[in-house]
Order: sequence, then C-alpha cells, then structure tokens
Amino acid sequence: MAKSTSIHYPKIIIRKEKEKIFFQRHPWIFSGAIGYMPEDIEPGSPVVICNSDGAVKGIGFFGKGSIAIRVLTFTYTHQPVEDIVNERIREAIQFRRQLGFFHSDQTNCFRLIFAEVDALPGLIVDYYAGVCVMQCHHPGMYKLRTTIYHALMEHLDGHILGIFDKSADALHDSTVSNKWIYGTERDELVVSENGNCFHIDIRHGQKTGFFIDQRENRKLLSQLCKGKSVLNTFCYTGGFSIYALKAGAEEVVSVDSSSRAIEILEKNIKINGLNGSRHQSLVADAFDYLTRIDRTFDIIVLDPPAFAKSHKVTHNAITGYKRLNALAMKKIPVGGLIMTFSCSQNISDELFYNTVVSAAMEVGIDFQVIQWLDQPADHPVSIFHPEGKYLKGILIRRMA
Ligand code: SAH
Repeated sequence: MAKSTSIHYPKIIIRKEKEKIFFQRHPWIFSGAIGYMPEDIEPGSPVVICNSDGAVKGIGFFGKGSIAIRVLTFTYTHQPVEDIVNERIREAIQFRRQLGFFHSDQTNCFRLIFAEVDALPGLIVDYYAGVCVMQCHHPGMYKLRTTIYHALMEHLDGHILGIFDKSADALHDSTVSNKWIYGTERDELVVSENGNCFHIDIRHGQKTGFFIDQRENRKLLSQLCKGKSVLNTFCYTGGFSIYALKAGAEEVVSVDSSSRAIEILEKNIKINGLNGSRHQSLVADAFDYLTRIDRTFDIIVLDPPAFAKSHKVTHNAITGYKRLNALAMKKIPVGGLIMTFSCSQNISDELFYNTVVSAAMEVGIDFQVIQWLDQPADHPVSIFHPEGKYLKGILIRRMA
C-alpha cells in the first residue's frame, strides 16, 4: 500500500455559502460549490476538500462536468485513497457475507459493491458464482483498479475465480477496453438465483450481464403464478419467465427487442430442465406487442429499461410509463395482476405511483395496490444519496 499522506493531494476550497454540504454529506459536489481549485487537476485525481477557512473536511475524486467531486470521505484523514478504498471494499464484502450470500446453496450471484451507497463512488462490482464483474463509472476509481483488484483478492478470501473489468462500457473512453484482469477467461457462465439457473454473457450482456436487482421480485412472482398465464415484457434473458415456469405457470410469453437476449433465454429454458412447451418467446417491441394482441394474461410483468436517463427527459419518460401501463391494464382480466417497474433514478416512487394512477384513470379501470416492490438488500440506499434508490415497482390487481 502507498504510504504517502492524503494531505499532498491538490486542495479544493468550497465557497462559504455552500458549506451546508458538509452537513448534508451528499457524495456529489457540484462545480458551482467550488470557490478555488488549482487549474491543472486531471480528471480522476484525488483531491482534498476544504472549507472556506482552508480546514480539511474530506477527500474525493475530481471529475469534469457538473459533478466536480465524488466524495470518498467526509472525514479528515491522512490515509491515502488506496487505503480508504481497500477498507471500504472489505466492509462491503463483509456486509454481503452477513447477508448470507457466500453460504447460500440457492443463490450465488449478487451485488458485491454498489458505488456511492458503499462509499465507493462510481464503483460497481457484481459477483457471479466466483467471478467478479467490475465497472468503474468514474476515472478516479479506474485509476485505482490495481488497488481494487488487490482488495477483491484479499477480502474475498479464496471465493474468487476471476475478475472481468467492464469499465469501458461505463467510462465511454476509447483508450479503455473491457478485459479479464484475473483468472481464466470465461465470457459465459451459469449462476444460480433462488435455485433457478441463468446463463450469463459477461462480455456482451447488458450491464454486468444480468439484472440481479430483480431477485426478490422474481421470487414474489413465483409465489403468485401457479396455473396462470404470464406475459413477461422487457424480459431480457428471462429472469421472471424462468421463475414462473418453474413455479408451475400454465403459459409464459416472453417479449424483448433484443434477439441476443432471447437466444440466452432459450438456453435458460433448457438448463432449467424445462421443455419449453408452456413457453413462447418473441423478439418484438413490447409496446407494439401489447397494442396488437387480442387476448388477456392473468399476470403481466412490465420491467422496461430506464426511460428517464436524465432530468431533462422526465416528461417523455412519464408519458412512456403511462402509455405502457395503460396498454397492459387493458390486457388483464378481473382479478389479474400487473407487476410494474421503473428503474429510472430520476423518477421518484411518488411520481411513478402517480403515473400508474393516471394510466388507470385513462383506461377507467380500478386496481388495488397489493404491494410496493423494491431493490434488494445487496443494493442498499444511502440516506445521504437518495439517487441510489432507483428500482421501484408496484404490484396491482384488477378490480371488477
Ligand atoms: N426484466 C429483465 C430486465 C429488463 S432490462 C430481467 O428480469 O432480467 C430491459 C430490457 O428491455 C432489455 O433486455 C432490453 O433489450 C429490453 N427492451 C428495451 N426496449 C424495448 C422495447 N421497446 N420492447 C421490448 N424490449 C425492450
């Protein structure tokens, strides 16, 4: 580990009128809060954060754009960033150990490190049956990839077969490439989630390969679907579909616009020992499919990609969610269920709920709210960083 002290990092002074950030402890400091900084700081460099009197208040990573600093710590410390990151990784892994993930014979894929929420701004590491897929979303973390590698090796304590660095997808930097940094290259592997098997395409799959944040919601679906017809829209590799088929759904239709995702879904049907006779998969636009079908399903899952990637497009996103929910509401019989989700960080729980309500008003159908749906414990939310709460959903049931 480096032995230099953090005090040698360039100092950034926060304007007096913005000093409330030291109480609010939000891990992003916007450029407007900066009173003074040296001109030549490179993006990704560690910086010391000072109040207007010059007192050291924390350490972060400098970045270009409106978020000028990602805060690593709001505590005065002489520790180099390498040591802080190593310690945080140890804590994040320890917490997943406490959650029981390393000793489960049912589930061996989960989120090991969740960025700001684990006080590791911009760093995501998902764990797939011993293989870590890491994504640095900020150059500050990317510069520390050797530290991250050593920390994973040290703290996973033998529970590690490989590390794939998928940061190129997150950094949008042509000089960075996705690559294996430890272990035998295994771009495709099989994991278990609540006893269901899933084929993961680590290199080419979306995000880190699988949407592990839906684990608990898929389990809930499996408790509701015996003997029912299920439509799984935006199905990706069939997370909800496999749970439903294994739990005895009478019929499952899976729809996704990605042919690659549907190919993997078909593999997932086979590796779970299902013969596929109760299942149909379609490469199609979910909106088109819901518009053109002339039938109902007992249960519909709506799990679209984030429609609102920024605040600017929130209005369009709301229109999209409303249209999607209204279409599905018309394809549900009395007593039927809809599991509807939004994974847009910029759409609050309340706004999403209101959007679902306005869809129901538009179609003139009454629904009961059965349950609020959420992200699981390996995707916790920091109270100082509400943006980490991105997945929200509602289970609703059609009334007569
Ligand atoms: N429910 C999935 C995750 C969904 S991610 C799971 O449990 O794993 C969102 C998915 O929506 C992606 O697979 C993407 O390919 C698909 N998608 C995006 N736009 C779409 C559209 N208009 N119609 C159908 N699928 C779409």
